Amino acid sequence: MGVGRVAGVQPSDRPADSPHPPASPSDSLALSAERLEALMAEALAEARAALDHHDVPVGALVVRTTDGEVVARRHNERERTGDPTAHAEILALRDAAVTAGTWRLDDHVLVVTLEPCPMCAGAAWASRLGGIVFGASDAKAGAAGTLYNLAADPRLNHEIPVVRGVRADACAEVLAEFFAARRVVPRRVLR
Ligand SMILES: [Zn+2]
Repeated sequence: MGVGRVAGVQPSDRPADSPHPPASPSDSLALSAERLEALMAEALAEARAALDHHDVPVGALVVRTTDGEVVARRHNERERTGDPTAHAEILALRDAAVTAGTWRLDDHVLVVTLEPCPMCAGAAWASRLGGIVFGASDAKAGAAGTLYNLAADPRLNHEIPVVRGVRADACAEVLAEFFAARRVVPRRVLR
């Protein structure tokens, strides 16, 4: 992503729930490549906070595209809370919806260190999210293009532009360090 600007069309320029969003995945993300790198650095810092309670280090931000403000930042709390749905993305989307005062987050973008799983990609669909930016791909559970692509399935009534691979190495490294320290190879899924 060497271009200075990833963006162009705003989500509001097209009808809500349009079955035919822009052809280019990054067209509706009003965020420069430099801004995406900086946001991913913040998401990585959030991911590391999960280590304090022995959760898999995944961090997520939700960014409001109208003004670029970060309105939510959360990390994985599955172990801490014993809640199977307490993935960073779910928690961040819930916080963002409270701030927005609505479930509809079409003028928001999720920035997350690891590719969303089917649950989180489903939550992004349910919130009519304006975009997903992720770092490391997840070969075991990725649902934004790796195993499934819930962000761009023409059978669903909302498609989400996806930018993948932002600071992917750094995002993968924090996960690799976590699992190496635990000396545990996850059997079924990465998180
Ligand atoms: Zn998830």
